[in-house]
Amino acid sequence: MLLRHTSKEVKEREGLTINPAKTCQPIGAMYAALGIHGCLPHSHGSQGCCSYHRSTLTRHYKEPVMAATSSFTEGASVFGGQANLLAAIDTIFSVYEPDIIAVHSTCLSETIGDDLQQITRKANDDGKIPEGKRVIFASTPSFIGSHVTGYANMVTGIAQQFAVSTGAKKNQINIVAGWMEPSDMREIKRLAKELGVKIVLFPDTSDVLDAPQTGKHEFYPKGGTTIPELESIGDSLHSIALGSISAEPAAIALEKKCKVPFETLEVPIGLTATDRFIMSLSEIGGVTVPDEITADRGRLVDVIADMEQYLYGKRVALFGDPDQLVPLTEFLLDLNMKPVQIVSGTPGQRFEKTMREILDARSPETKFKNGIGADMFLLHQWMKNEPVDLLIGNTYGKYMARDEDVPFIRFGFPILDRIGHSYFPNVGYSGGLRLVEKILTALLDRQDRDALEEKFELVM
Ligand code: SF4
Repeated sequence: MLLRHTSKEVKEREGLTINPAKTCQPIGAMYAALGIHGCLPHSHGSQGCCSYHRSTLTRHYKEPVMAATSSFTEGASVFGGQANLLAAIDTIFSVYEPDIIAVHSTCLSETIGDDLQQITRKANDDGKIPEGKRVIFASTPSFIGSHVTGYANMVTGIAQQFAVSTGAKKNQINIVAGWMEPSDMREIKRLAKELGVKIVLFPDTSDVLDAPQTGKHEFYPKGGTTIPELESIGDSLHSIALGSISAEPAAIALEKKCKVPFETLEVPIGLTATDRFIMSLSEIGGVTVPDEITADRGRLVDVIADMEQYLYGKRVALFGDPDQLVPLTEFLLDLNMKPVQIVSGTPGQRFEKTMREILDARSPETKFKNGIGADMFLLHQWMKNEPVDLLIGNTYGKYMARDEDVPFIRFGFPILDRIGHSYFPNVGYSGGLRLVEKILTALLDRQDRDALEEKFELVM
């Protein structure tokens, strides 16, 4: 038992986190920056931070993740990193030739008080940013928030620093992508195309972190939202933010800067959240829902109804990120399963309120905690006290699943020991179908494993 020291007795903890259910802000900022075409993320801090951010993303996506660093040493740590960043901007544009450098801060540069807005302005004033190139920035202090906060901060920076309002409206709708996989972003674009609605999706990591093997290394793959697209979001008719934590701040910033009205929806995971997304996009876009999408929905409903006997009443523990957990919890309730224990290391009153509203209405006995003290250790303690039939979460959950002998589904970020997440979507009706398939496979595999010989069924 690898986690044999996890005790059953739950004690109140304030100053100690054990096995956090979150990771570091700049990882989210780096991921968001990769969703801009021709962009090189830049970590303003030490080399070690940048290596950690890159390696986590590389391990999750199984793709080489390029990023630069200000390479702080003792001097920069004491006197500030302005000289390092100015030198880096010079070197990056002359050696790596990106269209954009997206700078995020780190714990160290935030602690010493480096002002990224001032430094990037100085870079511009000193003529270090070539004509037509851009340097954008986001503040991502990792001693607060989580990777989701860092993602939100960079997406907000993208909206603030690219959007232009020309006064001439464009017949297009912005979709601000909350934290989701490249496969999910591809599916969002497919659904919008099938609906016949022109969208600008940002950021967009499809064709960047799921790029095909062509035999040729592309330092900047063909995917990502382009600069002209990003400039045009200020003239869009409307924005839809997918996720109140990871996407809504960007939509708010865009409304403030360019008066683009917005609404916030959940990431369309599962039946109900996808219904809301499809209806909203069709209403704002003034289109009717095509038969193909209705048929996709019907297939998902059919599978749910057919498999009800295996799903009903199954107790689930889950951990992960807010904008995934809310719709996933709703989906599990739609499947008549019981999400009984939920943990997220990402703080946020809005997240807490939304989750509590869902649970109060449909599952008041569920244990839920987010922010300080909401870690995997606590979830494991809950599981020990009230055993579950299924655990859903990122790769780090495999230790708890093994110790408690519980079927485990990998879902969320990071997934370091399996593939599929970047290629097969979790969003939309087809994503819902995939999730149901994964849940059923995990539960039925366990039923097969534990069945007595006389109860070992060929047809289930
Ligand atoms: S020091 Fe801060 S920014 Fe750097 S890896 Fe650690 S948590 Fe992330």
